[in-house]
Amino acid sequence: MKKKIGNWGNYPVIEAEEFAPGTVEEVSKIIHENQNIIPRGNGRCYGDAALADIVISSKKWNKFISFDRKEGILHAESGVILSEILEIIVPSGWFLPVTPGTKFISVGGALASDVHGKNHHSEGCFSEHVLAFEIVNEKGQHLVCTRTSNADLFWSTVGGMGLTGFITSVKFKLKKIETSLIRQETLRAKNLKEAFQIFEESAEWTYTVAWIDCLQTGDSIGKSIIMRGEHALLDEIPASKRKKALAIPSKFSPMVPTFFPSFLLNPFTIKIFNTLFYKKTGRDFRKDFPTYEDFFYPLDSIRHWNRIYGKDGFIQYQMVFPKEVSFEAMRELLAAIAKAKNASFLAVLKLFGKNNSQAYNSFPYEGYTLALDFKLDQKLPRLIETLDEIVLRYKGRIYLTKDAMSRPELSSYTKNIPITPFFSHQQKRYLQKLKQL
Ligand SMILES: Cc1cc2nc3c(=O)[nH]c(=O)nc-3n(C[C@H](O)[C@H](O)[C@H](O)COP(=O)(O)OP(=O)(O)OC[C@H]3O[C@@H](n4cnc5c(N)ncnc54)[C@H](O)[C@@H]3O)c2cc1C
Repeated sequence: MKKKIGNWGNYPVIEAEEFAPGTVEEVSKIIHENQNIIPRGNGRCYGDAALADIVISSKKWNKFISFDRKEGILHAESGVILSEILEIIVPSGWFLPVTPGTKFISVGGALASDVHGKNHHSEGCFSEHVLAFEIVNEKGQHLVCTRTSNADLFWSTVGGMGLTGFITSVKFKLKKIETSLIRQETLRAKNLKEAFQIFEESAEWTYTVAWIDCLQTGDSIGKSIIMRGEHALLDEIPASKRKKALAIPSKFSPMVPTFFPSFLLNPFTIKIFNTLFYKKTGRDFRKDFPTYEDFFYPLDSIRHWNRIYGKDGFIQYQMVFPKEVSFEAMRELLAAIAKAKNASFLAVLKLFGKNNSQAYNSFPYEGYTLALDFKLDQKLPRLIETLDEIVLRYKGRIYLTKDAMSRPELSSYTKNIPITPFFSHQQKRYLQKLKQL
């Protein structure tokens, strides 16, 4: 039976049939009997990558297969959620090698999008820490993939957005930690130039991220707060916290109960939020020890925060520019956003390091990346066209896992879209647009 399905941005929402197979045989049967199929994890991609006429959910693939506490190697089924993994590994002194800005994604989704975190410049994408995975391919065969066995499938699946098959399990390396706290420094930058300077000076830090106020214009374009951090060592944290150094932070998470009326989020309310947020840091420089939850997942502290954008939903626009042109490109992009008065509530700047060239479908390459949220309204398609033009001109690239509206030429693989039973709504949209060009 068909039902309405959307991802985190609630746009687009389509009619689809969802299957939740629990065995390889069931997955194979669905593949043999259907077309236009896409695997789906926890639906935390923003746009339409995890949508198609037929959706195969990984929710029954929710078991841990093994955890080597000595070597820090975890093998989990593809539907296991990162938050579940953290609860097991953190008390044992291990952490995720790479984590996105939410812990509510599945392991299969982490591999299919080849997710990055605040440490791409120092530790790369998720795939760099993956030892092996299992997948049911388009012929219904269950295969084990490593860098040496079924290597072609290994590299096309990494960042392949579910188009090469249904991942059933992933084995990956963890990183050692002494505490569950982060040694954090927070700095304020008056504009983009200062922000870039701080990023460059922070090259030795494992984690770096900046929050940008998109409403600023002129000399203040790029006004931001930069956070940099390291997993705190035992002897660095306050003595009172050492006894429970590897504790899982307990936290009450309030929920946005229903969709907000969309008029609530406008340049005026966003300006108030941005001003308060900038002031919250208090000084131009601050040091503290937040929990890993506060450092990596501040947005997760409010459940269903995506509802603040209203029923029509929102889109996230994330691009990367080559490092040598990042500054000019970002300035132009931020100026276009400020001019359109279509304020992004959330704008996150990160620095990517060199990527593994074998992971040819992965989004990151060396340069700066910016992720912006925009409420959906009538003016938005025009703004996205303007941003796409800037990205194209500076030879940038957009992140497929966020995209719901961009031009197909801006993604990494759409020139050779493979036609198999796996065919997402996103691919269909790109093909339709390409025919129009
Ligand atoms: C608040 C928030 C912050 C985020 N921050 C970041 C960030 O910092 N860095 C980053 O890289 N991403 C980030 N993301 C995006 C998110 O990490 C990715 O979209 C991730 O892939 C979502 O995983 P999921 O399990 O929800 O997968 P879904 O959203 O269900 O699917 C995402 C893609 O993975 C494929 N897929 C899922 N499961 C499987 C499977 N079993 N087999 C084959 N393919 C599969 C789908 O077909 C789809 O193409 C963020 C998302 C949110 C909501």
